[in-house]
Amino acid sequence: MPRDSAANQLSEFKKTQTAPERLTTGLGCPLSDRLNSLTVGPRGPILLQDLQLIDEMAHFDRERIPERVVHAKGAGAFGYFEVTHDITKYTKAKIFSEIGKRTPLGVRFSTVGGESGSADTARDPRGFAVKFYTEDGNWDLVGNNTPIFFIRDPVLFPSFIHTQKRNPVTHLKDADMFWDFMTLRPESTHQASFLFSDRGTPAGYMYMNGYGSHTFKLVNAKGEAVYCKFHYKTDQGIKNLTASEADDIAGSDPDYCIRSLYNSICKGEYPSYTMYIQVMTFDQAENWKFNPFDLTKVWPHGEFPLIPVGRITLDRNPKSYFAEVEQLAFSPANLVPGIEPSPDKMLQGRLFAYNDTHRHRLGANYHQIPVNCPYRTTVRNYQRDGPMTVDTNQPCAPNYYPNSFSGPVDCKRTGFGECTYTLSGDVSRYNSADDDNFTQAGIFYRKVLNDEDRQHLVENIANHLVNAQDFLQERAIGNFTQACPEYGASVRKALEKVKTQLSKASAAKL
Ligand code: NDP
Repeated sequence: MPRDSAANQLSEFKKTQTAPERLTTGLGCPLSDRLNSLTVGPRGPILLQDLQLIDEMAHFDRERIPERVVHAKGAGAFGYFEVTHDITKYTKAKIFSEIGKRTPLGVRFSTVGGESGSADTARDPRGFAVKFYTEDGNWDLVGNNTPIFFIRDPVLFPSFIHTQKRNPVTHLKDADMFWDFMTLRPESTHQASFLFSDRGTPAGYMYMNGYGSHTFKLVNAKGEAVYCKFHYKTDQGIKNLTASEADDIAGSDPDYCIRSLYNSICKGEYPSYTMYIQVMTFDQAENWKFNPFDLTKVWPHGEFPLIPVGRITLDRNPKSYFAEVEQLAFSPANLVPGIEPSPDKMLQGRLFAYNDTHRHRLGANYHQIPVNCPYRTTVRNYQRDGPMTVDTNQPCAPNYYPNSFSGPVDCKRTGFGECTYTLSGDVSRYNSADDDNFTQAGIFYRKVLNDEDRQHLVENIANHLVNAQDFLQERAIGNFTQACPEYGASVRKALEKVKTQLSKASAAKL
């Protein structure tokens, strides 16, 4: 077997050591013997005073933190963003302040539904989350490799994710759960069409695009605002796996995408992605034929052209997977002056959920963990204490505001405030279930995909849908038909073919 950089990681470490360093306990006490516990006689019981052993075991017992509920399996890398085009007329965000400016960043790619040990090539959207360490604090763009999502109201999110995970009784993936939810919520038809296309199985994190997906607001130095979407296009070109290639790799190398990202960076083949924005004025948003804040829809490139902004380059692998990737905590709420939320309901839900998750997984001071720390600025506020306070806890300064003792003051007068805008409307629970679920899915099927893509799409759907009950199959075909009659008919035909093959195979077994 040829050995790659990932396989040689330990040998590379050895080369950096002239001699092994001194072994200690977690508190730095030198150890005399790390191979034998302290016992009464050679066969005797272990003494409670074997503090080395207790130190070792007690830490081992606490090695795991809660797995992420979604996006548990992932790979991380670090690098920088470089501005190539001026967008200061849209935003005062310092990251974009001048052409050539570089901002350090961390990225985490992931699958969504699988556990931390699941296969990298599973059919699933891919997370594409970027943390930009800016001088105004960290800006996180927590996106996916698809510009859209399955649902448009976050109240559905926990149920949606349950249907992508394991049946709580059997602990198995359950096609009935999956297709029941998908077909009862036809707004998922557009994203389901992406998922079952070959883009549902990218050939590696280097070979897929990323999207901020939500609509955001950009605000310039004069306080003028526009709505915006963020896109990253891979500079390596899109490469996908067919369903059978993805299945084969899932069996032979479930960590395929982590490995290829790591090795590519070791070889100096640094993955890069070009960032673009789309811009929509408030007037356009008011009059557009679709709700511009609906996460199940794209903004067509023809109407809202891509504007180039800069490039992300990934040139460093994590030094520790746990410290720098497992603990790397992103949140759409981590925004900086010049970038603000839009009314996108899914974004509004995520503004709460992500930091809430980090407080649960990593603790109230998760932002003090080096990889999450906004290290290019100085944190000054009136928060104190809490579990794992590992920085200096802002010593000496007053811990209340306002105060008369020169504690930090807010920056209202220096242009950091949110832009002012007007909202009005009746408070209600608005039903968004029928907000045009099919037009863009139909365009995708008819105009974006070529014949081969369409063939793969319907075969991939059929191979999954066949596991669901007949009434769910009919409901799914009904939804695909509404997107495009030919789409529904092709899924039906592919489904019948799979059923025939399966019944022949089971007859042959008898
Ligand atoms: P365009 O013809 O201008 O753009 C279509 C876009 O689709 C391409 O630029 C490419 O975006 C993306 N694309 C191409 N092949 C595939 C594929 N096999 N699977 C998934 N996406 C693909 O059309 P519009 O902008 O008017 O959009 C038409 C339809 O294209 C939409 O309804 C949507 O389904 C799909 N689409 C649109 C995107 C957008 O942001 N407007 C982005 C992705 C898909 P990219 O280079 O970003 O991958």
